[in-house]
Amino acid sequence: ATPTALLVGTGRGAQLGIVVGGPQALESAGNIDTVVLDKTGTVTTGAMAVVDVVATNASTASDEVLRYAAAVESGSDHPIARSIIAAAHGLVVPVATAFTTYDGLGVTAVVDGQLVAAGRPAFLMQQGFTAGADANETRTTIAVGWDGEVRGFVALADPIKPSSAPAIAQLISQGMRPVLLSGDSAAAVDSIAAEVGIAARDVYSEVMPADKVDKVRELQNAGHRVAMVGDGLNDAAALATADLGIAMGSGADAAIKASDITLVRADLTQVGDAIALSRRTLATIK
Ligand code: ADP
Ligand code: MG
Repeated sequence: ATPTALLVGTGRGAQLGIVVGGPQALESAGNIDTVVLDKTGTVTTGAMAVVDVVATNASTASDEVLRYAAAVESGSDHPIARSIIAAAHGLVVPVATAFTTYDGLGVTAVVDGQLVAAGRPAFLMQQGFTAGADANETRTTIAVGWDGEVRGFVALADPIKPSSAPAIAQLISQGMRPVLLSGDSAAAVDSIAAEVGIAARDVYSEVMPADKVDKVRELQNAGHRVAMVGDGLNDAAALATADLGIAMGSGADAAIKASDITLVRADLTQVGDAIALSRRTLATIK
């Protein structure tokens, strides 16, 4: 039989907007020592916005870079795609066909018989585009290319949620080790880690969606009890593998289904609250 205290704790959680899947989830929350955080949509709002468009080819205008970027991104529903399409509003966006999405890397499509790509600079290299100038920015930066060449870059702001830094400080004071995990570039992820108070040695960037789960296993194999906090479809496997999966209420259905706890307010301070609630509940039982 389930101890009454766990049922009471589960009910208390619900009042706080912490939806606990079952009594055993509340139990595991009390034993966590490492909290792995996805970046986009978890530590940041995920409401990205284009802040800069640069053409790196003398014969190309920056408007053209944005128009082609929007054309190829119209086949994607990634937050990056949504923000680029919004920024191109009012411009004439060419018609694209044959969209291909490369999870965690970027997208390609065909415009006027030309292959167009947008994504990580390294992804465009892999697709055979020759590089122009480098963009080593501390922001999420997307390379855009067509006709065999990288033609420019789109820089995006990924605003940090105001509650993230205090929430991470709370986790540290509770004895947790926060770890940041992202598919984004090292420069972008490092700058966000520094802003929210996560140690540089606990930052993993340019992690492919399929490799996020391996990072969780690595920490578990090192003897840690790991909570994973995420919101995306590409976080689902890691959420299911973690000792405790915590989904943002604003996240993808697949992320919520793979998790033990859902945070209705999508606010990281609720992670520390869930752990505190669990510890109090377990103390009543012992
Ligand atoms: P995260 O781990 O932050 O959720 P993703 O795994 O979704 O990130 O993506 C990792 C990186 O792949 C992005 O930072 C971006 O460089 C590139 N990328 C993914 N999807 C797209 C897209 N639709 N357009 C351009 N770039 C993309
Ligand atoms: Mg995310």
